[in-house]
Amino acid sequence: MAELKVVKARDLVGCRYRVVQHERFPDVPPTPASLARHERYEAARAVVMALLPDRRALGDRGAFSRVTAGTYLATLEAMAAEATLIIDAVLEWDVFEVDVDILVRMPDGYLPVIVSNHRVARPAPGKTVRAIATSRLGLGQMLDVPYRMRRHSIDSYHLALANRALALVGQETGLGGVIGQDRSRCFIEPVAVFNQALTAALAVPVPDAPRRVKECDSCRFWTHCAPVLEAADDLSLLLPGERSTPYRERGINTIAQLIDADLGEASILAKAYRAGTVLVPRGPLSAPRRDIEIDIDMEAYLDQGAYLWGLLSDDTYRAFASWDLAGEAENFATFWAELSRLREAAHAAGKTFGAYCYSAHGENHWMLQSARRFGGLPGIPREEQVREFIGSEDWIDVFALVKAQLLGPFGLGLKVVAPEAGYSYSGDVDGEKSVNIYLEARGGSEAARAELLAYNEDDCRANRAVRHWLRGGS
Ligand code: SF4
Repeated sequence: MAELKVVKARDLVGCRYRVVQHERFPDVPPTPASLARHERYEAARAVVMALLPDRRALGDRGAFSRVTAGTYLATLEAMAAEATLIIDAVLEWDVFEVDVDILVRMPDGYLPVIVSNHRVARPAPGKTVRAIATSRLGLGQMLDVPYRMRRHSIDSYHLALANRALALVGQETGLGGVIGQDRSRCFIEPVAVFNQALTAALAVPVPDAPRRVKECDSCRFWTHCAPVLEAADDLSLLLPGERSTPYRERGINTIAQLIDADLGEASILAKAYRAGTVLVPRGPLSAPRRDIEIDIDMEAYLDQGAYLWGLLSDDTYRAFASWDLAGEAENFATFWAELSRLREAAHAAGKTFGAYCYSAHGENHWMLQSARRFGGLPGIPREEQVREFIGSEDWIDVFALVKAQLLGPFGLGLKVVAPEAGYSYSGDVDGEKSVNIYLEARGGSEAARAELLAYNEDDCRANRAVRHWLRGGS
């Protein structure tokens, strides 16, 4: 087990080997994706800091002071001076350095508050959580609001660790606050519910060697970890994350061992990996055929909303885009009207109709969400209408067909499968990049808007290429 110096709360989530590599290779720069994530966090913090009070309002009683700490010592001094708000607080617990965006003075100690880019709560009539306006932190009272918390491990660990650190200096309140995508509101919860999970996370030993996981694809240390994994012929190269666990329990830790074990599909996958074969058919390939066929792909911004519905019909791509989430309802209504028009026209002419997409999960989610959120507005379908469509034979998931018919040692994502079907992507945008490009598009950048439309059109066309290729029985 590796020995570590300073650890942050974020190191408890995801790959635990990252922290070892951080110490070993401190000069490896962050990837563009993580820099962009950091920029989004700093932008969120700036909004929150501007909202925080810096003096008492008329009618507020008692002293008020707002100080910026930045170090552990300065944080201790600010707490000793009973500052009302301590910005950029730094706490310590065991090997952890716990950065806390804001410490808020309470009658019995300090409330740690973190800024998160997650959606941390959703409106939920009948439920209640405690919250306070960001602009009243340190001054106002918490209120019960009709929301339900959405917990994210990284935020929960952070707040529970902050309370453990505060307990060391006799300042814990047992509460934690988080300001999510709605910057104007701080949601507050007891942290006791996170403690068991935190204790379990703390008990996980820091590994001595890398294991490939999903986040390796965007990790700055991949060039250091990949050669180690390849030299070890590690099974995680083929089966990342927990997927290799059942084989490791049988003593199979390398790709060579999995090939030799002759365990059906798993061993076939291992052989294909070794040979560099991207796709292995389980049998003859096929895809359902319809008289009228269209391809659909949707883009959403985090969990805030779907801003783009792309539709490819008769080789013509149409984008239904709303670069401002305020226009989302109208945009969805326009898309739905066109989809319904094409579908109804096909049926009226006695023809079969097929709308194809690649992995319908996101599209289904946002069609249903849009029907729920915008129900009653002009052109918005009822939830039952959406359910009728997504449960019908007219809505066909090409990814489900691919998954049922092919094995893919390098995954079965559209970007992996479409080139095998002869499709050449025109751009190199992926999901993570699209989030940043969307922010530029929302800010008015025409170039960013064009890039997102091209990205969406690419996926619609790639989807069509894959279903045609499946039909060819390649
Ligand atoms: S490349 Fe993968 S294994 Fe290596 S530190 Fe990053 S996430 Fe962990």
